[in-house]
Amino acid sequence: MDAELRTLAGWGRTAPSTARVVVPRTVQEVIEALRLADERGVIARGLGRAYGDPAQNAGGLVIDMTGLNRIHFIDADAAIVDTDAGVSLDTLMRRLLPFGLWLPVLPGTRQVSVGGAIGADIHGKAHHVEGSFCDHVAAMDLVTADGEVHTLTPDDELFWATAGGMGLTGVVVRAKLRLNRVETAYFKVDVDQIDNLDELMARQSVDDDKYLESVSWFDTTVTGPHLGRGILTRANHATLDDLPRKLRADPLKFDAPRLLTIPDVFPPGMLNKLTARMFCELWYRKSPTRRNAIQNITMFLHPLDILGEWNRAYGPHGFLQYQYVIPFGQEEAVKRSVRLMVDAGHVSLLNVLKRFGDGNRAPLSFPRPGWTLAVDLPVRRGVGELCEELDELVLAAGGRLYLAKESRTTPEAITRMYPRIDEWRKVRADVDPKGIFVSDMARRLRLT
Ligand SMILES: Cc1cc2nc3c(=O)[nH]c(=O)nc-3n(C[C@H](O)[C@H](O)[C@H](O)COP(=O)(O)OP(=O)(O)OC[C@H]3O[C@@H](n4cnc5c(N)ncnc54)[C@H](O)[C@@H]3O)c2cc1C
Repeated sequence: MDAELRTLAGWGRTAPSTARVVVPRTVQEVIEALRLADERGVIARGLGRAYGDPAQNAGGLVIDMTGLNRIHFIDADAAIVDTDAGVSLDTLMRRLLPFGLWLPVLPGTRQVSVGGAIGADIHGKAHHVEGSFCDHVAAMDLVTADGEVHTLTPDDELFWATAGGMGLTGVVVRAKLRLNRVETAYFKVDVDQIDNLDELMARQSVDDDKYLESVSWFDTTVTGPHLGRGILTRANHATLDDLPRKLRADPLKFDAPRLLTIPDVFPPGMLNKLTARMFCELWYRKSPTRRNAIQNITMFLHPLDILGEWNRAYGPHGFLQYQYVIPFGQEEAVKRSVRLMVDAGHVSLLNVLKRFGDGNRAPLSFPRPGWTLAVDLPVRRGVGELCEELDELVLAAGGRLYLAKESRTTPEAITRMYPRIDEWRKVRADVDPKGIFVSDMARRLRLT
């Protein structure tokens, strides 16, 4: 297996670095790849959808897992799939739907690998009902630093250290996932167009338990009484009876062509106050309050997946995503953070607010009960200072940042945000005493 020098970046394109990259096709080749690691260590990479640098390893080795791409079996009666870690959630979802099976946790894009979903213990809009990705992993095979393959179940400490462990416990090569059942490939959606942030958060706080999926988008370009106006969108899977007659003939049909790949031609500053205001106005107006709208998966869950490489639209300097969770009871801090962003004049289009349900057993997993807010911020003068102010606010409110989105905070902040990090470090040190698993993020944040 040959290693090739490649420059790799996260989805935000902010801090590329060069590494030797190998693409194993079997578990045996993953084990052999580990022997190629030198003192700069090794890290697994999935589809590179983490925003920052956790799937990069400057001067070291990166194992590109997309070569391990077999779905081993689908047990439709038991609602289980057994799959290689390099398979994308997009491929899985397409293969499972004809059986009436559904992945309980899908993030904002399906272009994420199973290994990356475990590495970040990802969440979707259904967290308040379904928890996070690893809550649905029945077993996973992990290749550890000594080249052994361990089959881990939720009874193992190493299972929970790997869930959200950002690839630093080993390489996940295969996983068995528990699935839900659905009658159709559609959602029955309720939309509320809401005039300001106070009301948006108040409305999102009631009735969420009636919906499987719940999320709101808010506008960061208006100030005054309409600050934080937004669109609350909540949905359940549509049943066969919910569908109009013409869709009932083929209720599990899913067809989402990629219509357009964004070219890499955008100058810096394309996204400015004017363009952002136009986008937000359109987005707000196009979503009037309505009930029981039938929407397909792309419309409801993944509108951005229609565009390939849409991150290029932010221009060559890239962008960062700031995502935090702040515990319930700290609503004022959430509102203050929105005011901070608006007052600082930083324009962000994809502004999302969700409510997390109960947290899980993984020490480095991000979700915990509270409000999670995510905004995209193009890199420009002042964005660093804004994020530092936001970090202070998040820390004071007892919140934390999401490692899969993070690209610029400090080791001290992460240690305070993840109080169980030493427990995680101990499990990791036991299984990788020489510290061969390492990434740019691990060095930057002194995670290990
Ligand atoms: C548009 C967009 C929307 C998103 N929405 C959400 C969302 O709603 N919810 C959410 O939770 N996340 C979301 N994300 C983030 C994304 O789900 C995570 O970053 C996920 O980890 C990406 O998976 P990947 O396969 O691209 O992994 P990569 O980005 O390649 O790697 C991410 C981490 O996983 C580790 N890893 C990858 N493969 C393996 C493996 N086989 N074994 C061990 N470790 C491995 C890497 O070492 C790295 O630390 C979004 C990202 C984008 C670009």
